[in-house]
Amino acid sequence: MSVCVPVSVSPCYNPCNMSKYEQNSLFGEDKTDKAPAGHIIRVAFESGVDAEFDYLVPDKLWPVAVGQRIETPFGKNNKLEVGFCVATQLPHQRLAAAGTAAQGVKAEHKTKKFKLKAISAVVDKEPLVDAGLMELARWISNYYVCPLGMVLGAIVPGAVKKGAGEKKQKYVYLAVAPEEIDKITGQIKGEKQKQIVQQLRDANAFEIESAIELNDLLEAVGCTDVPVKNLVEKFTRQGGQIIKISQRTVLKSLPAMPEGMLIKREKVVLNDDQRKALTNIISRINEDRFGVTLLFGVTDSGKTELYIKAIEETIKKGKTAIVMLPEIALTTQTIQRFSARFDRIAVMHSGLTAPQRNTQWHKIKSGEADVVIGARSAVFAPLANLGLIVVDEEHEPSYKQDTTPRYHGRDVAIKRAQLCNAHCVLGSATPSLETLQNCKTKRAFFNMVRLPKRVMDFPFPEMRLVDMKDFASQLMSEPLINQLTETLARNEQAILLLNRRGYSNFIFCPSCKHILRCRNCDVTLTFHKTEWHGLPARGSTAKMAVPQIAPIPTITGRHMHSGLAICHYCGSQTLVPEKCPLCRKGLTMIGLGSQRLEEDLARKFPNAKIARVDSDSMKGADYYRVLRDFSEGKINILAGTQILAKGLHFPNVTLVGIISADTSLYLPDFRANERTFQLISQVAGRAGRSAKKGIVFIQTFLPNQPAIQFALKNDFEGFVKEELIHRNACNLPPFWRLALITLRDRTHEKLELAAKLMREKIDRIVADQQLQIRVRGPIQAIISRIQTFHRMQIILQAPQPAILHQLFTTLRNSPPIRPAVTVAIDIDPVDLL
Ligand code: ADP
Ligand code: ZN
Repeated sequence: MSVCVPVSVSPCYNPCNMSKYEQNSLFGEDKTDKAPAGHIIRVAFESGVDAEFDYLVPDKLWPVAVGQRIETPFGKNNKLEVGFCVATQLPHQRLAAAGTAAQGVKAEHKTKKFKLKAISAVVDKEPLVDAGLMELARWISNYYVCPLGMVLGAIVPGAVKKGAGEKKQKYVYLAVAPEEIDKITGQIKGEKQKQIVQQLRDANAFEIESAIELNDLLEAVGCTDVPVKNLVEKFTRQGGQIIKISQRTVLKSLPAMPEGMLIKREKVVLNDDQRKALTNIISRINEDRFGVTLLFGVTDSGKTELYIKAIEETIKKGKTAIVMLPEIALTTQTIQRFSARFDRIAVMHSGLTAPQRNTQWHKIKSGEADVVIGARSAVFAPLANLGLIVVDEEHEPSYKQDTTPRYHGRDVAIKRAQLCNAHCVLGSATPSLETLQNCKTKRAFFNMVRLPKRVMDFPFPEMRLVDMKDFASQLMSEPLINQLTETLARNEQAILLLNRRGYSNFIFCPSCKHILRCRNCDVTLTFHKTEWHGLPARGSTAKMAVPQIAPIPTITGRHMHSGLAICHYCGSQTLVPEKCPLCRKGLTMIGLGSQRLEEDLARKFPNAKIARVDSDSMKGADYYRVLRDFSEGKINILAGTQILAKGLHFPNVTLVGIISADTSLYLPDFRANERTFQLISQVAGRAGRSAKKGIVFIQTFLPNQPAIQFALKNDFEGFVKEELIHRNACNLPPFWRLALITLRDRTHEKLELAAKLMREKIDRIVADQQLQIRVRGPIQAIISRIQTFHRMQIILQAPQPAILHQLFTTLRNSPPIRPAVTVAIDIDPVDLL
């Protein structure tokens, strides 16, 4: 019988685990079977099976290289599947040892009759993934607990795998020697056919290299392709072809640079701070070994200018560079700024069409680009000889991919730099606590340089706090409306930011500022409007009744019946009182949307041109158009979500309003404070980018909240100091590591059972291996149902990543839990939703 042999569950990959294949077979060598003819390769499939399989490559399909895709029969039904070749030239006699990794294969080995299946085709002419990226893929598969095939699938863009925009073109050339042409032409009857041969001879098309494109030939002769076909077929029958047709794949060259605002290519003279920072970075680049520099510089301090200079230095050394930016910061302005400075540049981001993406990728792969600028996935750009990776706005949570493989672009960038002895520059005005901590504790690799001042030394904008207590039912406070009126009267522009998130409702008393908090944890409670299913009692698998929450009076008064407040950390839930438990005034739910803001503005400022921008409603071209109109003064007020907080430079913007600083503050997440500080300081950076005085309004119900107070004073250090105390006390990042296991299923009872079994299994492993891991849950996820799937979560905390890794390796190598539900593992999650 014929089987494919799963050989390793990918987390086992590391030099010591490879010895698995060096051991003798578990079952003894299969002496009855002759070594099969051909070559043995190992294949990883994109479909998500967490194992690799060995296959035979018949001589006629050899050679196959690592990184190439092949097509092969797979599974019981021999369905054809495409997979990546991940190892070649495996020795025949050690095959059986492979059976150690997976279930269900061992029995088939025992028959001694097993034969490897043979692949049916080689898909790619060249490997899509080189050795360096393959090593990176192994690391990602291992660290982020994701099947290797899925990682490889993510490394190569879909547009490349599909060959988007590629066309097969036919080329024609003569297959006879020049001296024979006259004789043969004499035998040809058709006039057009004769002309075709003449044309080819005149063009000297005697070789495949000098072949003429079919369409050009047809045009020159003035005929359809019928005479060409006749020529090919007729002379074949007589034993030799006179002309031959070859095929070439051509990719239409598609420019990917957006048209937009013109960027002047002016000479920049670095200021003292910039020069010092650059000297530092360049000396590290010249060490030709791995290192990380945190470029900690306020908005407008000239960081981008330094990236450009550092890249120029890298290119001078004959090396290449990647620049990563958050997707929404990839505006025309940024891309144009880089493309004005580098000729051999490629871009990779989601705003491109599939054929554009394919073109850009091939440009990089073929060595026609030295610089790649793009979003998260640019970290996988197939550049050879990488010397520098820049990650701008390194603190941005959008660098984390929220589908498998759930990798963090910044952390993968650091890893890639390490694997190829390159330097990595992380830039931010508000660095992540993780990176700050690395600078403290990993001094051998991490180094911090600072740019404390704005380039032009424009003063920071004035920050004004508005306590919304006095304007509780309004979206915009009077001081903000007045300021907006003045701004418009001066013909200046305003940006208003409202970060609406569906779950950002929180329960709050506008009068005494009491917020509902968890009894057990230092986090606020999140209001769940959805129908709520009780958590199973420990050890019980019985179906839980859905509690009907009637507005019954209790000792603390009447309760809202539309939902419950739940703690995301410990799962505790509370009824929500209608009245504030402290001052007996009515509680408020805060929930605003940018659409309502737009309407409000239109009513209050009927003469102003208003545009609303949010990442959902606006894609590529529209977004660029709005930005262009705004920069040309055709729009007075830009209102929208966080998309407006990033990297935009509009000198005429003198007013920035944060409609609700509280929406991100009350994310049910331990990073809420950090996000709030980042948001306020980033948005504030949009105001006063010229000699005109800028002003920032921060509307909040919590004017004394520390994150808001620190942001108001522009005191990042103070904020970090206080936040770290809290993180340390709670064993949270950057001190401990987190992993989040989310289980989902359409059937709630099944999900609860599976989640409970998962918890038990983890508890067993933790106990057996004495792992220092804190396990919480299962609890209902904050968003308890997505696309008809119920979701439950288990949260793991450990002091070192290696401990979590040990747990997941054991989990991966053991049978899956039954009942089977979908399990997603998120290592270093950026949020716990
Ligand atoms: P950041 O990336 O820190 O926000 P940028 O590099 O974008 O800062 O610089 C802000 C602005 O100042 C840009 O328009 C840039 O061209 C300009 N700039 C940067 N460095 C200098 C300099 N040394 N002299 C004059 N202008 C500069
Ligand atoms: Zn709690």
